[in-house]
Parts: sequence; C-alpha cells; structure tokens
Amino acid sequence: MKKVRHVLGISGGKDSAALAIYMRDHYPDLDIEYYTADTGKELDATYKLIENLEVYLGKKIIRLAAYNNSHLSPFDHKLKTLGGYLPSPQRRWCTKSLKLDMFEQFVGNDPVISYVGIRGDEDREGYISTKTNIQSIFPFRKNIWSEDVLIKFFNYDPALLPVASDNEKFLRILNSPISDRFIQSQKLNQLLNIDIIAFNQLVFSFLQTTAYPLAQSSHFPLLDNKDNLKIEDIFELLNHSGVGVPEYYNKIEFEVNGKKGTYCRSRSGCYFCFFQQKIEWVWLYEQHPDLFFKAMEYEKDDEHTWNQKEKLAELMRPERIIQIKEEYLARQERKNISSSDYLVDIITDAEEDAGCAACFI
Ligand code: SF4
Repeated sequence: MKKVRHVLGISGGKDSAALAIYMRDHYPDLDIEYYTADTGKELDATYKLIENLEVYLGKKIIRLAAYNNSHLSPFDHKLKTLGGYLPSPQRRWCTKSLKLDMFEQFVGNDPVISYVGIRGDEDREGYISTKTNIQSIFPFRKNIWSEDVLIKFFNYDPALLPVASDNEKFLRILNSPISDRFIQSQKLNQLLNIDIIAFNQLVFSFLQTTAYPLAQSSHFPLLDNKDNLKIEDIFELLNHSGVGVPEYYNKIEFEVNGKKGTYCRSRSGCYFCFFQQKIEWVWLYEQHPDLFFKAMEYEKDDEHTWNQKEKLAELMRPERIIQIKEEYLARQERKNISSSDYLVDIITDAEEDAGCAACFI
C-alpha cells in the first residue's frame, strides 16, 4: 500500500483555522501537513492568524508561493504577465494560478486526503480536485464524504456491501433506488439518521474497491465522527483555543442618517477581492484606507476595475458611501437577522457560494 498523505489548507478564514484546531484536538495521531497558498495580498490579520495557529498546532504551516523567484508578490507577478488584466468572477485566474495549481504541485501524484472546513450548517461542496489522487473529506459535517464519492457509492450494488442482516431498516433504504421522488440527498439523510458510523463504514468498505486514496488505508479514524459543527461552534473553537478570531470579523458600529448598524469583513482572501460586497469596500475604505488606496492603484482605466459597474474612486464618494450603508441596513432588516451575533457572516454565507474553498473557508 502507498503511504497516504493528509493535508489541510489554511485559507486564512475562520473555518479552515477552526478545522486545524479541531483535527489537532480530535485526531492528534494523524500526521497532517498544514499549508497555505499566499497571494501576497492578504490582510495582516490573516498572517497573524497563521502565526497563532502555528503556535497552537506546534507545527509549521507550509507556505506555498507561486513565482517565488520574482521580486514581485505572486499576485503582482501574474498580473504583470497578463498585461494588468484584473481577475473577476468570470475570469478568476488568481485562484487557479496562485492557489489551486500550487496545491496540486504540492501534492504531486501522492494519494492525498484533503480536509475541508465546510460546516454542517452550509449547503455547498467547495472545491473538489479533478485529480483522482486527491480525496476531500469534510469533518465538520454529518456527511464527511464528497459528492463524487456518494454518487459512485449509491450506484454500487448494495448486495456487495457488508450490511448486518438484522439491520432491516438500513437495508431497505439502501436498496431503494434513487428517483425523482426519492432523491440522493433524502436517501443519504435517512441513512445518516439511522446510524452515521455504520454508513461511514459501508462507504469505506466500498472505497476499498476503488482507486480513491482511502483504498490505500486499512483504517480511517474519521469513520467514527458524528459531529455536525455550526457557525457558533467555529467561533467557540477559535476563542477557546486562544488562537482567536481574525480582527476583521469584529463588528464595528456605524451610523447613517440616524440609523445604527454594524459592519465587518465577512471573509478571508485578498484585501481587494472582487467578491467583496459594496459594504465591505466601504469597511476597507474606512478601516484600512491605505489598503483601499492601494486597491485603487490597480484600477488604471475604465477597463481595469474591481467592480464591473463602479470604479473605487466613485464608490468612495461620501454620498455613495451613505447610499451603500443605507442599502445594507435595509437588506439586513429584510433578512430579519438583527438578533444574530455575526451579521455579515450570515448574510454572506449564500453569496460565498460564488467563492471557493481555496480562498474563503
Ligand atoms: S481572495 Fe479573491 S482576489 Fe484573492 S485569489 Fe481569491 S478570488 Fe482572487
């Protein structure tokens, strides 16, 4: 059997940091390689989080930096080779060249289990590598398996699985075909609700018949994992461990036309990330004006802008800032989430689907 590597990418966001803490606490015997792919354009709070994590983990977090012979940062180097063509949701060269390609180089052709911090209260898959030697596992969810594994598992002949013959309910669901009226997620949830560990053991036994990395392991400690972690658990893990929550998640009060609200940044990633909401650009302008002006320097003309319909020079006008804040407060009211502790984070959870595991988890 080939040696299977276990890796965990630290994006600089709260969820991947909490996952590193969780894995160290719950699975200290797994030899996990922690890595981070640096664009050179993260917020200071992200670099601080990585340092704090290294202390807690007692391990170095491997820095993957593209173009490390260049005198420019990885982002600026790639941008220069593209003639100043800024990335956008449609042309997202930054994640691919600076993060995903670096990750795939890092693991090479070794069989790898990659742990991903998608939470139990999220409905998204995150980045799944197309390389067959990389298998994603989601320890924060009741369902630890990736979608590609589940599809293959549910297409496998149940008669070939080692199901206990007295587990009639389990067998009945397993033998019920997936259809328009009984979709895969229903089948999955029904099985998980009966017995998570039994389900995991069956998937693991199916994987032994495949070319997935876990076929190279005779044992996998996460088969016993029944946890389902939600956003409040993530903050608890970060605070309780002493690693702390990155400063940009702290809510800051603002007032606009007599109405009070709070804002903060909702995600990790580059300070100029084009996935930011308008209110986050306002946060950057008011809380880190030096970074806002640096982001402006990239907008050389009307063709090269971070937001499709608005240059930062327009966004920073006082009347526009008031408008953005008012719209943001109105949106909060509509969503009726005023009792939440982490407003921006919850607002943007759905919108983070546009992002991906490499930058924001
Ligand atoms: S954080 Fe945003 S700008 Fe930075 S690499 Fe990711 S998608 Fe690109």
